[in-house]
Amino acid sequence: RNRGLGSWPARRAAMSPGRTALIFEDRPVTYASLYQRILRLASALRGAGVRRGDRVAYLGQNHPAFVETMFATYALGAVFVPLNFRLTPPEIDYQLGHSGAVALIHALPVQTDISPKVDLSSYDAFLASGEPVEVDEPVDHDDVACILYTSGTTGNPKGAMLTHGNLIWNCYNLLVCVDVASDEVTLVSAPLFHVAALNQCLLPTFLKGGTSVIMPGWNVDGCFDLIARHRVTWMFGVSTMFAGLSQSPRWPDADLSSVRNLMTGGASVPEALIRTYQERGLAFCQGYGMTETAPGATFLEARESREHVGSAGLPVFFTDVRADAEPGEPGEVLVRGPNVTPGYWNDPAATAAAFVDGDWFRSGDLAVVDEHGHFRIVDRTKDMYISGGENVYPAEVEAAIFEHPAVAEAAVVGVPDEKWGEVGRAFVVPVPGQRLEPGEVPAFLAGRLAKYKIPVYVDVVDDLPRTGSNKVRKGPLRDLPLPRTR
Ligand code: ATP
Ligand code: MG
Repeated sequence: RNRGLGSWPARRAAMSPGRTALIFEDRPVTYASLYQRILRLASALRGAGVRRGDRVAYLGQNHPAFVETMFATYALGAVFVPLNFRLTPPEIDYQLGHSGAVALIHALPVQTDISPKVDLSSYDAFLASGEPVEVDEPVDHDDVACILYTSGTTGNPKGAMLTHGNLIWNCYNLLVCVDVASDEVTLVSAPLFHVAALNQCLLPTFLKGGTSVIMPGWNVDGCFDLIARHRVTWMFGVSTMFAGLSQSPRWPDADLSSVRNLMTGGASVPEALIRTYQERGLAFCQGYGMTETAPGATFLEARESREHVGSAGLPVFFTDVRADAEPGEPGEVLVRGPNVTPGYWNDPAATAAAFVDGDWFRSGDLAVVDEHGHFRIVDRTKDMYISGGENVYPAEVEAAIFEHPAVAEAAVVGVPDEKWGEVGRAFVVPVPGQRLEPGEVPAFLAGRLAKYKIPVYVDVVDDLPRTGSNKVRKGPLRDLPLPRTR
């Protein structure tokens, strides 16, 4: 009767009670005991008035309480709303109000009159107040499971609704492309409020009965330590995270012998970075997707990844993806399938604008589809700029700058220019301990890129403005005043 994710903990506890579901701060939790805790939490939430369709929010870093709150919410047929803990208090207020949350579990201080509002320090007591009895709320594939706010890379985060069916089909799509095993040890190193860590790592690992190692917050040393200590087999990271690992002084000696597969996506991936990992013999595969598609849209299987370096692969198995354009030219990526959102919560205008030709979701991304049907993500429509009549895709320029050995990261934006309409401005972060002069960047690019693509302005900076999911936010960079001279 219950076809939603709320039934997963019971099914998993029946199939693999003694296996480790989660590891947090080196403490393992079995599927059986996780299930018992989820039962109690669901009944405590129900006792506090949470009903089918109500929104239950979670605010805090990665923690087992996140996983328990999610599954308890799903069991009640309620809607899970994980919030980005890096937002400012007014932004959190906005999302709590916008989602209409009636309950909040939080690990960070927050002012709100939502009740119940359970702080992590009283969380265990709240959970223990519930009875370990099964809630049997019938949930079907079309019921909304969660509202995930988009990263806010291009503007204000939008609340994408994902149904139970969306989440399940995303798991199926992923499991076709990635050999997630029942003995998988997945490092959940990206924030769980973000669609990738949640739906591409935690859920498929749970479905297969593997182990998720929950990392509270990202840091390079902690990542190396956890991989070695728990013999991690699989992890997802945006390119910034993988660049952090491979630029670390620990990289040459780090014990990565347990790793079977690394998965990236969520932002453009410089080919030089992929090669660094491949040269070490690691399988490094790239996926492309977005919150609204739960998230997988295209995927490059690990066994194909050496042949197609830099490609984001093929449409995932049960989903249609297209990018209409002349051969070799970029077109907007459109996605249709059982993993695609029914729309944005409480925002019919944004929902209507998001679909074309009926049920094709507009990604706002540009891709070139090659003769093998492979998608190469070029850039976001919004980030492209035009210099002297020529289109420039910042992601390509960033990848070229990244080839410079002293460059840790680069972000390029288009800025107004009297002569060319727009020109490029590059923000470059040097590798720690290395010196980099702004003038070196255009000199390095000369001969590698056409002249119109070479940034006219270069700023060497310590860091870049980021979203909670570690992506670079271009808006604040575009808004910085220009230096008076070029
Ligand atoms: P917002 O929609 O709020 O501006 P966002 O689009 O960054 O933020 P997400 O849903 O987290 O929010 O990210 C999806 C986007 O990430 C995609 O639309 C695409 O621009 C980018 N992306 C995902 N995977 C890749 C990839 N492999 N290569 C390049 N870009 C990618
Ligand atoms: Mg988006």
